[in-house]
Amino acid sequence: MTPKIVVYKAMPEDVLDYLRQHAQVVLLEGASGGSHEALGRALGEALADADGAVGASVKVTPAMTAGATRLKAISTISVGVDNFDVDDLTRRGIVLTHTPDVLTESTADTVFALVLATARRVVDLAEWVKAGKWRASIGPEHYGVDVHGKTLGIVGLGRIGGALARRAALGFDMRVLYANRHPNEAAERAYGARRVALPELLAQSDFVCLQVPLTPETRHLIGASQLRAMKRSAILINASRGAIVDEPALIEALADGTIAGAGLDVFEHEPLVSDSPLLAMRNVVALPHIGSATHETRHAMARCAAENLVAALAGTLTRNVANPEVLVR
Ligand code: NAP
Repeated sequence: MTPKIVVYKAMPEDVLDYLRQHAQVVLLEGASGGSHEALGRALGEALADADGAVGASVKVTPAMTAGATRLKAISTISVGVDNFDVDDLTRRGIVLTHTPDVLTESTADTVFALVLATARRVVDLAEWVKAGKWRASIGPEHYGVDVHGKTLGIVGLGRIGGALARRAALGFDMRVLYANRHPNEAAERAYGARRVALPELLAQSDFVCLQVPLTPETRHLIGASQLRAMKRSAILINASRGAIVDEPALIEALADGTIAGAGLDVFEHEPLVSDSPLLAMRNVVALPHIGSATHETRHAMARCAAENLVAALAGTLTRNVANPEVLVR
C-alpha cells in the first residue's frame, strides 16, 4: 500500500515530486510561514493516520505521537533533534532521521562570519556608514580586534566544529582548543586542536564557539559563572541552539563588560522579540537562525530528508538515524 506522509515545511518542487513518486503526500497548510502554534496543532492531527512525516522547526511532543498508531518514521530537515522526545519515539518504534553532513560547511561558514563580524565590527560600522556618519578618516574608536593568530575554543568539536577548526587553523593561523566528552583525534592531527576541560577553554580562548547539540546535559551549559571565567576581551559565538546559553546571564555579561561581545545565530526563544536588550547592544551581532540557510544547502537538506523518509518507510535506511536502536528490533 502507498504510504501516507505529512510534509510540514515548505519543500522545493523537485523534492515534492520525488516524495509524490513514493507516497501519498499531505502538504500542511501553514508549512510555509504560517503561525507556529497552528502548524503544531495541524501536525498533531495529521499524524493520527500518517505513516511518515517530514519537516522542521515544530516541536513534536509525546501527546502528538500518542495517537499516531501507523507512524513509522519522522524525518527532520535539520541535524539537531532537540524538537523531539527521542526516547518517546524509540519506545514507540518510530524511526527519527536527520540531515547531518550536508549542512556542515555552510554552518561553519556562518560561525566564521560571526567571528569576523563581531571582531571587526562589520555590522556596527556598515550601519554607521549607511547612516552617513563617515565624514572623516576613522580613528581608534572604530578599530576592531584581530582574528588571525588568536585562540579559538570550540565547545563540541564534531562535524561542524571540525569544519570550523579547519577554517581557524588552516585559514587564519589560529590556535584551536576544544571541549568534548571524547577526544577528536582526527581534528587533533589535522588542525593541532587541543582538548582541554571547559574551564580552561573559557579562560584561554579569544573566541568561544558553541557547537554542542541541545540536550538536558548541555542546556544552560554557559551561564553567569562560565561567562565570568572568560577573558574580558573574549567574544562568545553561538550558532548551536539558544538554550545552551542562559540568555539573561549573557545579557548581563555583555552589559557590564564581563565579556566583550557576542555573535548569535540562535536564541532561547525564536523569533527573538523586538524589545530584546540584545538588539540594542552594539557589541552583539544577531542573525535570524541562518546557520545552514543557503539555497544550495537548504535544497540538499530537503532532498536528504526526503530520501531518508522514503528509505525509512521502505525499511532500507542505514544512515542518518538519530535513534538507531529502533532499526535493530
Ligand atoms: P556532531 O557532529 O554530533 O557534534 C557535536 C559535538 O558536541 C560532538 O563532538 C560531541 O562530542 C560534542 N558534545 C555532545 N555533548 C556534549 C557535552 N555534553 N559536552 C561537550 N561536548 C559535547 O553535531 P554537528 O553536526 O556538528 O551539529 C552540532 C549542533 O549544531 C547541532 O546539534 C545543532 O544543534 C547545531 N546546528 C545549528 C545550526 C544553525 O542553523 N545555527 C545548523 C546546524 C547545526 P562528544 O560526544 O565527544 O562529547
